[in-house]
Amino acid sequence: MEKTNRETLIEVKNLKKYFKIKRNVFVQAVDDVTFDIYKGETLGLVGESGCGKTTCGKTILGLYDATDGKVIFNGIDVHSLTPEEKKDFTKKAQIIFQDPYSSLNPRMTVGDIIGEGIDIHGLYKNKEREEKIFELLYTVGLNREHINRFPHEFSGGQRQRIGIARALAIEPNFIVCDEPVSALDVSIQAQIVNLLMDLQREKGLTYLFIAHDLSMIKYISDRVGVMYVGNLVELTTSKELYKNPLHPYTQALLSAIPIPDPKMEREKKRIPIKGEIPSTINPPIGCRFASRCKYVMDICKEAMPKLVEVDKGHFVACYLHHKEKAN
Ligand code: SF4
Repeated sequence: MEKTNRETLIEVKNLKKYFKIKRNVFVQAVDDVTFDIYKGETLGLVGESGCGKTTCGKTILGLYDATDGKVIFNGIDVHSLTPEEKKDFTKKAQIIFQDPYSSLNPRMTVGDIIGEGIDIHGLYKNKEREEKIFELLYTVGLNREHINRFPHEFSGGQRQRIGIARALAIEPNFIVCDEPVSALDVSIQAQIVNLLMDLQREKGLTYLFIAHDLSMIKYISDRVGVMYVGNLVELTTSKELYKNPLHPYTQALLSAIPIPDPKMEREKKRIPIKGEIPSTINPPIGCRFASRCKYVMDICKEAMPKLVEVDKGHFVACYLHHKEKAN
């Protein structure tokens, strides 16, 4: 499912997002992350909970200010927009939230939830607005009778469909899907993922798809970025990552994916990850995976390895794979 189009839509350059928790003390949630998102692709962002992937997605959208670095969308830095440019950017870039229960205002009807963005951007009025909402309901597998109902009248899967319709209402070309299925029953997850993939094909959407479920990420993504304690440690095509993972953390994550065939499961070796996860408040100066890595070397503790392209389109931040072991 990898697409050949390599036109860049978003450039994330040395992005940092630190949260101040008290005087001179910061949580380094995202630290020096660099990658591109290509037009029409799904870039999966994966990692354990707390690794900074959601913060990264929200900082790309400008929902959080960046501590440092840049996010260039269509040639313009998202963090230095004029109010007019910001309004235009929010029309082009949307988010689907993880929790379909808390992300919809319980006092608003479905029609008003979906119509809110249409009103803010003055896209349609009166009959046209209503027709647009009917069309969006239909697009996400709901129907026109749902327009006057309230969120509590729907199941989790239906609420996520409402969240998707809300994101689509202003016809964006980029959507951050922030763990959009992890709060749903397994039986519903595939339906929502398939809906997102169908919409991408129909509308040429670009997704940043954030998840901790590697099987899901493999299914939906063209390329995958692996995050660990605020750093991007590996980035390549989905196919290459699953065939040839290079970073020891990626190898361990992949070894933990269950295989449906019990015979193969016996043959597959799970790589345990032992040791403490470092704090993002005072992270080590070297590789943040060093405390858990069985290949750790002296250099790993002295300087943070940079994300380097070690093969065409395959980037890794690990001294095992860098020709020069020190930068
Ligand atoms: Fe392990 Fe060193 Fe590679 Fe970090 S840089 S993952 S500690 S080998």
